[in-house]
Amino acid sequence: MSAFMPTVALPNGETVPALGQGTWNMGESKAKLRDEVAALQLGIELGMTLIDTAEMYAAGMAEQVVAAAINGRRDDVFLVSKVLPQNAGREGTIAACERSLKRLRTDRIDLYLLHWRGGVPLHETITAFNDLRRAGKIRFWGVSNFDTSDMEELQRLSNATAVATNQVLYNLSRRGIEHDLMPWCRRHNLPIMAYSPIEQGRLLKHAALKAVAARHNATAAQVALAWLLRQSGIIAIPKASRPEHVRENHAALRIGLTRQDLRELDAAFPPPDGPVPLEML
Ligand code: NAP
Repeated sequence: MSAFMPTVALPNGETVPALGQGTWNMGESKAKLRDEVAALQLGIELGMTLIDTAEMYAAGMAEQVVAAAINGRRDDVFLVSKVLPQNAGREGTIAACERSLKRLRTDRIDLYLLHWRGGVPLHETITAFNDLRRAGKIRFWGVSNFDTSDMEELQRLSNATAVATNQVLYNLSRRGIEHDLMPWCRRHNLPIMAYSPIEQGRLLKHAALKAVAARHNATAAQVALAWLLRQSGIIAIPKASRPEHVRENHAALRIGLTRQDLRELDAAFPPPDGPVPLEML
């Protein structure tokens, strides 16, 4: 039984959960496989049905973990995967997608992203994405780690009208996108997928987060997620392979941050006062 889950609209109007699940570092060790599958399944039950993966993660093994987790419930999830920039040529993209589909044991990826910009001309990747869409192998495409100038270049390509998201590093300690990339995406009605929402755990010891968390009888991770989730057009994709983390992250949806909380968080993690080049992990 899935609990309350806010949604974010893609440019075509279809909605996806605002809180999804990441999979980086899953599939690295056989001993952890069962727990990782179980964690993703628990997340799905709780309504965190958007699952983010990539051909890069554990050299394809993360996609196989996802396949096991969604076995028998493919239609309940919104699958995101990514092509590596070195594979992102016209034919390479198609071949990479076919390999991902095989590992994911499905006939379609809901959202297929270019993982980051490499040497391949953007229009080649986009042409392949459009071919994959026409063939029904992907439903939407998007980009990742694109800064404002990359988004402008993408927009100038006549065949780039269907971009569905930009997945970027965004959390309390990485607020650079608030200066221009986020306003650009908002103007173009483009949701942002916030990766590493708890800074891979590094945010958890921060005193200001702990102080706000204490007032809500919550954890620092939950406050970091609640801070993202209170913003419109943001999809957060924490990765958790422990069930207690999955439950905790889901419960962040119930936290309503007050004005005082936000003031304290702004003081500890100031918003940018000028342009900041996009950071990547
Ligand atoms: P993250 O989600 O910020 O942090 C993951 C780490 O935090 C894991 O060690 C996890 O532990 C721990 N954790 C999760 N929930 C917790 C909680 N409630 N309390 C304490 N610890 C908790 O970092 P991330 O994995 O880098 O980012 C999330 C996802 O974004 C990735 O998995 C991936 O899908 C995507 N991503 C995309 C890009 C890109 O270039 N497009 C780059 C980085 C990440 P356990 O696993 O032990 O539960």
